[in-house]
Amino acid sequence: MVVEVRTAKETDAGLERALNYVGGRWVEPTTDQWIDVIDPATARPIGRVPLSTPRDVDQAVQAAKAAFPAWRETPPLQRARYMFRLKELLEAHLDDIARQVVLEHGKTLEDARGSVRRGIENVEVAAGIPSLMMGYGLEDGAARGIDEEVVKQPLGVFAAICPFNFPAMVPFWFWPYAVACGNTFIVKPSEQVPLTQQRIFELVEQAGFPPGVINLVNGAKETVDALLAHPDIKGISFVGSTAVAKYVYSTAAAHGKRVQAQGGAKNVLVVMPDADLDQAVPNIIGSCFGSAGQRCLAGSLVMPVGDIHRPLVERMVEAARALKLGFGLDEGVDMGPVISDRARRRILAAIDQGVQEGATLLLDGRTVRVPDYPDGYFVGPTIFDNVSPEMRLAQEEIFGPVVGIIPVKTLDEAIQLINRSPYGNAASIFTAQGRAARQFRYQVECGNIGINVGVAAPMAYFPFGGYKQSFFGTLHGQGRDAIEFFTERKVVITRWW
Ligand code: NAD
Repeated sequence: MVVEVRTAKETDAGLERALNYVGGRWVEPTTDQWIDVIDPATARPIGRVPLSTPRDVDQAVQAAKAAFPAWRETPPLQRARYMFRLKELLEAHLDDIARQVVLEHGKTLEDARGSVRRGIENVEVAAGIPSLMMGYGLEDGAARGIDEEVVKQPLGVFAAICPFNFPAMVPFWFWPYAVACGNTFIVKPSEQVPLTQQRIFELVEQAGFPPGVINLVNGAKETVDALLAHPDIKGISFVGSTAVAKYVYSTAAAHGKRVQAQGGAKNVLVVMPDADLDQAVPNIIGSCFGSAGQRCLAGSLVMPVGDIHRPLVERMVEAARALKLGFGLDEGVDMGPVISDRARRRILAAIDQGVQEGATLLLDGRTVRVPDYPDGYFVGPTIFDNVSPEMRLAQEEIFGPVVGIIPVKTLDEAIQLINRSPYGNAASIFTAQGRAARQFRYQVECGNIGINVGVAAPMAYFPFGGYKQSFFGTLHGQGRDAIEFFTERKVVITRWW
């Protein structure tokens, strides 16, 4: 039975309880399994999140399924108006949402604000749905007097399974498009950062979407498995690590669903001998250490070409050493903690291994202390020089503030190394030479290319996805790709006697 909750969503100890939002109501899940949500800067619990059961998932699917027929028949322009209302509410509460992101994720407030802004941009783009969803046709396209046209139709219930590193933004890569197209939707946030979506769904509620159009279900693996297997879900959007992306892709496909699954990354930044280091170094530092290296577009390997190696390394170390670690809501902080104690231990082990493998440790983040936050999961900026392509440092996604420098002799060598990687999310080049930039963008096998841009993050009206093990599927999130993913084309051939 679904228990409706209208009062403060708190535990006896004053911690926020993340509830599910199903059929336009905040509901108590049937599960008795709840886990703590931890502020990574203090290591203290700030909330509790339920691990919803297949029964809870089914309730959300039934609500979404029941809402579909009437929502589908709501004219696109009218559906767009809900997006305009939501956008206004999100703008008005941008700071509250960003603060919630900082508390449960640990990134700095400025970084969090930027990510919320990126999320809102997707709502803005999805508000253009009447134009985006329009089909096409050709009079006499089949024969004289026989017209042929294509219309795009929504399919039903979709779901998104989201990672911890962008608690506000990632769900917006998908659901505004799906819902604007006339589908209904279920968001499953990461169980490590569920509270931001509580704030966002409070605004979804205020925006007045009809009950069941957009739903929130909290949980972890069991919850995901129930979504992947549910016969009434038409498609799954996933963002997370490569291992889970592969699993989600194959499992959901085996259940006959459409799937788009974004995975992990190992992004390379190439620095040509002619690069302007005054401009490039802050960009490189921002890419490698912003959000404590926990972005799927973060630079994690730097390849200086030729003589620029020494000056680049010196300036990178100097700039990284100056970064101030701390709690993301405090003034002047450049870098927060990593997400969990487990992540911290994994990152420290990767640094230990880099030392054992013989890379030169120029800046060691293992022993960093943040006096005001002694229990936080902090790892300082870490830079290894003379990394070779065979080392674990060069091959595995570390997802922390650790960067390896692989000196190379030529651009060709750099491109060969990038293309040998199993990942293909992003790569950037810093250069003043159009010819080198053109070769780079032409030859590199990655979905997102930066030219003098350290974090090549596509705007909402461009597709977001990688190549190789960084993406499984065909159509990406955001923009027109999302519209295609969330609709089916129907060809209509008409003759009138
Ligand atoms: P994760 O794979 O651990 O978790 C992602 C989601 O999958 C969560 O909702 C989680 O509950 C669920 N999940 C975890 N293990 C599962 C399992 N065994 N079975 C079913 N579901 C499971 O990822 P994360 O640690 O939350 O996020 C970081 C990863 O996401 C990094 O690898 C990063 O590169 C990647 N990422 C990629 C992009 C991109 O655009 N390619 C964007 C953001 C993050």
